[in-house]
Amino acid sequence: MGFDFNALLEKAKKGGKAVADKTVELTEQAKVSAKIINEKAELDGLYKELGRNVYFSARNNDEETDFENALAKIDAKIAKIAELEEKLRQLKGNKLCGMCGKNNDAEAEYCSACGNKL
Ligand SMILES: [Zn+2]
Repeated sequence: MGFDFNALLEKAKKGGKAVADKTVELTEQAKVSAKIINEKAELDGLYKELGRNVYFSARNNDEETDFENALAKIDAKIAKIAELEEKLRQLKGNKLCGMCGKNNDAEAEYCSACGNKL
């Protein structure tokens, strides 16, 4: 009954690779999460700017102010955040509920919002 060092080594290598893959996955998720936080902060800034412009426009009875550009910037930011959130959902393997659209954990069998079977 000999000790099979090679078999142990193989097993350790495989384990190490799995850990490395998992680490890469988590790093990618962390990057996308950080981007989402960043984009949301920028969106808050755009809302704030628009609010200030609306305020001064109303105070000065300025009916000429065109908000289309600001609205378009906000629309683009919202779309970008939705895109990143979808990417993060895919990286995590999360399940979207077909009934209500709620983002559920990968292990979930039923939707946490509406109880629909996933
Ligand atoms: Zn649901």
